[in-house]
Amino acid sequence: MTNITLVLGDITEQSVDAVVNAANSSLLGGGGVDGAIHRRGGPDILDECRDLRGSRYGKGLPAGQAVATTAGRLPARWVIHTVGPVFSATEDRSATLASCYRASLRVADELGARTVAFPAVSTGVYRWPLDDAARIALTTARDTDTSVTEVRFVLFDQRAYDAFETALNELPPA
Ligand code: ADP
Repeated sequence: MTNITLVLGDITEQSVDAVVNAANSSLLGGGGVDGAIHRRGGPDILDECRDLRGSRYGKGLPAGQAVATTAGRLPARWVIHTVGPVFSATEDRSATLASCYRASLRVADELGARTVAFPAVSTGVYRWPLDDAARIALTTARDTDTSVTEVRFVLFDQRAYDAFETALNELPPA
């Protein structure tokens, strides 16, 4: 049974087994969540990301996929990097956004992580409307078969928290 929880806060401060990074394909750092994770987590995370670029992900990590590294100095044990789709008004990329959550939970299962904190992937620089992103995130977390016992959505401001709370209350039956 997976518990879905919502908190207002900073993903880098979460004491969970794994925190999810809203990364970009390069895996070499960026702004928003990505910048905060590398800043607080220290250089070991970037070192492992560089190794991944030199091996499995020579062309970068495609949108919708996920891969784990150490969490360096963060309270978590692992960082699971996933790349959200950039929002498009003309092309429906919802399946790719859902895939970020599913793929991250699959990686969490492979690691044996039981508690996982997610940011609202794609809702920052990638401009996905919050209400829709919240609905996709929550539906996918609820419907994914996983051994993770807590999926914690960490919302950075009240507006994001309210969007997730409304979406959670309005979630259609499974
Ligand atoms: P993306 O490129 O996938 O849009 P961003 O990192 O730009 O990713 O933003 C994703 C969401 O995470 C946004 O809603 C943003 O406000 C939020 N955010 C930014 N910094 C943090 C943080 N330290 N902890 C949790 N959420 C954050």
